[in-house]
Order: sequence, then structure tokens, then C-alpha cells
Amino acid sequence: MKKVLVIDGSGEPLNFCSWKRAFAMLSTGRGKVLELESGEAGDPSFPAVIQLKRKVADFAPPRLVPGRRNIFHRDGYACLYCGAHGEGVHLTLDHVVPRCDGGKNTWENLATACFACNQKKGCRSLEESGMVLKSIPVRPLQAIAFRADLYISVGQGHASWAKFFAGVST
Ligand SMILES: [Zn+2]
Repeated sequence: MKKVLVIDGSGEPLNFCSWKRAFAMLSTGRGKVLELESGEAGDPSFPAVIQLKRKVADFAPPRLVPGRRNIFHRDGYACLYCGAHGEGVHLTLDHVVPRCDGGKNTWENLATACFACNQKKGCRSLEESGMVLKSIPVRPLQAIAFRADLYISVGQGHASWAKFFAGVST
């Protein structure tokens, strides 16, 4: 199901919620619709963006964990070593500093790698393996913009969100 973008009272993106939760916020008068996605022929319209009338404690900014889905999205679903991507490429999570050397599950230490590169690198450092990263893995700057971008890429977002993230880089 598509997500609903939640905007705070001052117009800043805050987080996302399900349409069910959005309807609950609207029906209790805690939020108002900013953008509506019109349904296909005969289908009802759904809110794409709602704005809170006042701050709601449980809508803190999203926390981004360096999980598989987020890391792959950050790296554009391509191997950070050889660039392989697309159908038929088996993507894996590689620890830049290998786990056997104490490498952690962090944004900075996880990289998308194709199966072949991951096997080749094995339990070796970059120096030992002679392999080179095409870009340096980092934590996304803006959690909410990153999440919006991810939802849009998997069909759970709305085109109307774009205006709320103008000029924001992930
Ligand atoms: Zn590769």
C-alpha cells in the first residue's frame, strides 16, 4: 500500500504513515489533507499528504537503520565494487572492514556488493583484497527525504511529495 506523507504545522516533512492512520488523524480533526491522490476510475481518492494541526509526540522523525533494503537503495541497487546491477545480479551486503576484523553493521561499513565481489573480497580488508569502492558509504543526510525516495522507487510513494523535498539531497 502507498504511504501518506505527514507534514508538521510549519510545513516541514515529519514522517510517513499508513492511509488507515491518516484517515484516523483526519476523522479526529488532528490533521488536514494537503494533497489527494485521485483513484483510478471508480476507486476512491486517498490522501497523499496530510498536515498535522499540532505536534504529535509519536510522529518523531524516522530512524534509518542500515538494513539491506536501505543500503541497496542508497547504493542504487548496484555493486559498489564492480557496478553490476539489474536482473540476474545477486546483490549482497558486504562489510568493508570485515566482520572477522570487528567490522560493524553501520552505514559507513556496509556496502552493496554482487555475490562474486563479496566472495572475492571474503574476510579481507580493502588493502588486502586490492578492491576499490566506487563511492564511500555514508549515512543518508536526510532520513525523511531518503525514505520518501525509497517509497517512490518501490511504488509506495506519490509524485506530489516532490514539492516538499525541493532542494533536499539524500
Ligand atoms: Zn561486483
